[in-house]
Amino acid sequence: TPTDERTPLDRLPLRAELRGKVPYGAPQLDVPVLLNVNENPYAPSDALVADVAAAVAEATRGLNRYPERDAVALREDLAAYLLRESGVALDASRVWAANGSNEVMLQLLQAFGGPGRRALGFAPTYSMYPDYCRDSHTRWVTEPRRDDFTIDVERAVGAIADQQPSVVLVASPNNPTGTALDAATVLALYEACVDACSLLVVDEAYAEFRRPGTPSALELLEGRPLLVVTRTMSKAFALAGARLGYLAADPAVVDALQLVRLPYHLSAVTQAVTRAALRHTDELQAEVAALRGARDELVAWLRARGHEVAETDANFALFGRFADRHAVWQGLLDRGVLVRETGPDGWLRVSVGTPAEMDAFRTALEEVTA
Ligand code: PMP
Repeated sequence: TPTDERTPLDRLPLRAELRGKVPYGAPQLDVPVLLNVNENPYAPSDALVADVAAAVAEATRGLNRYPERDAVALREDLAAYLLRESGVALDASRVWAANGSNEVMLQLLQAFGGPGRRALGFAPTYSMYPDYCRDSHTRWVTEPRRDDFTIDVERAVGAIADQQPSVVLVASPNNPTGTALDAATVLALYEACVDACSLLVVDEAYAEFRRPGTPSALELLEGRPLLVVTRTMSKAFALAGARLGYLAADPAVVDALQLVRLPYHLSAVTQAVTRAALRHTDELQAEVAALRGARDELVAWLRARGHEVAETDANFALFGRFADRHAVWQGLLDRGVLVRETGPDGWLRVSVGTPAEMDAFRTALEEVTA
């Protein structure tokens, strides 16, 4: 007879490094105000829904066949978008796409990491980086950021020389701090990477939210074959549910990733949905502009209330510091507002929501910290 009893994992031949681990788990709780995973709060418009639905219907007619393996049309559309967004012209041979930038980065580690190799990052940073490393048998090493979460360039260059990593992984804007890199820092890291024959991966998941004057590393790609810039449709494009991330790099990097990608990794439905969403770039860029404005207002409000806020170029802010951050997190949750308990002790991270969600957050925080 079947029983409800679950087989303990240690009865399975699980890899030693996975024993006792917990899966990635931002809480998915059913509360009215979700400000915990840096999503775009605006659901797709009716026009976008109709366009996506038609594109999916069309794709469905061909679902008996495997999808276009190299997703060339999609990569061309992504290149056209990057030209529009950052003014950088790229051929589709320099763009690669996968199921979320999570998968893009795992593929990068599968191709460029591996046993006996290291990947270097700057803590605090995105919590998935150590997991990509573990899953590709790459050793993850970190250098601390400064107290204001910027990167100490001299120290970083020294660490690259000492550690000789095959991959340097740096998010700009960084999660969970919001910190963006300036061009001089990227160039200094790049020079150190050239000396160490290391791939410099700049994770620009939140790039569209950058403030005027903050550059994109895309502008530095030309003539730098060891530079990789990753992007995603999950944040600015309000398409987290579709799972589409991509990168821009030298065509040789794209060739390398094709060695490790699974056959037909990007479904025909995913390709069709993304191409339809890209046709709505105008309306999505207007939303992003509104979210940037709301971000600046949020930061100003928090500072006016006496909170510390890390400089942010993203659609979220790291704020604090609280003697008992868990109590503040719980107090907000009790009032229907879910933020993220992440980053160094004392800090909380809040995503930028709709005006109504921001009101709810402000009211709840005032009550909790009164
Ligand atoms: N990079 C950073 C810095 C992120 O914060 C996230 C999402 N939280 C990702 C990459 C992954 O996003 P996705 O897989 O949805 O593209």
